[in-house]
Amino acid sequence: MKKLTFIITAGPTREYIDPVRFISNPSTGKMGFAIASAAARRGHEVKLISGPVSLKTPENVVRRDVTSAREMKKAVDAEIAAADKTSTVFIATAAVADWRPETTAPVKTKKGDRKTSVLRLVANPDIVKSVKGVKKIGFAAETGDAAAEAVRKCRSKNLEMVVGNDVTSPGSGFGTSTNKAVFVTKDGRVLRLPLMSKKRLAGKIVRFTEELFP
Ligand code: C5P
Repeated sequence: MKKLTFIITAGPTREYIDPVRFISNPSTGKMGFAIASAAARRGHEVKLISGPVSLKTPENVVRRDVTSAREMKKAVDAEIAAADKTSTVFIATAAVADWRPETTAPVKTKKGDRKTSVLRLVANPDIVKSVKGVKKIGFAAETGDAAAEAVRKCRSKNLEMVVGNDVTSPGSGFGTSTNKAVFVTKDGRVLRLPLMSKKRLAGKIVRFTEELFP
């Protein structure tokens, strides 16, 4: 088996409105950390770029913590630039916030007497889409048919595979220790997996990745 480098994003990002408020999501980072751990246990080099989570760094994993989507992108770009492209895979498990406030107030904003308030948002960069020159695996958290969306994402983001899951399905999605996933590959294969631990699913993703580099 060829020794690979896994560059993995995990967890949520935080997009600050002011010093004490942010936009985020309930991602806990479990899936990304489980993949990092599984890849390291199989002897691969692992670089984990994580948003704010409360998980322990798996053994033999180099971890870098970031807060916002733009910081995450910067960290990913630096790792990709330094990587040997022939043996590197980028796995995007992070639940990156699609939007951030156009401006971040330098001090806590006061409510005052206002009954409504408008927050203007701007789009964050799509990290996995912007990564070029290495093989990529993405995730699709959906509230409905994950397979159909995964096929679309595989094409639009140029991915080898998308791991789709319906976050509204019992035992699946944010914060759970299990996932009911579907693998959709670039060449059109659809593999529906039963509900299983994120740890076991992580093992399957690592094996799939190893097959990409014969
Ligand atoms: O389009 P959507 O956000 O559902 O795509 C999910 C996939 O894209 C995940 O792999 C996620 O980590 C990645 N992503 C990203 N940067 C973004 C948004 C999503 O890398 N700004």
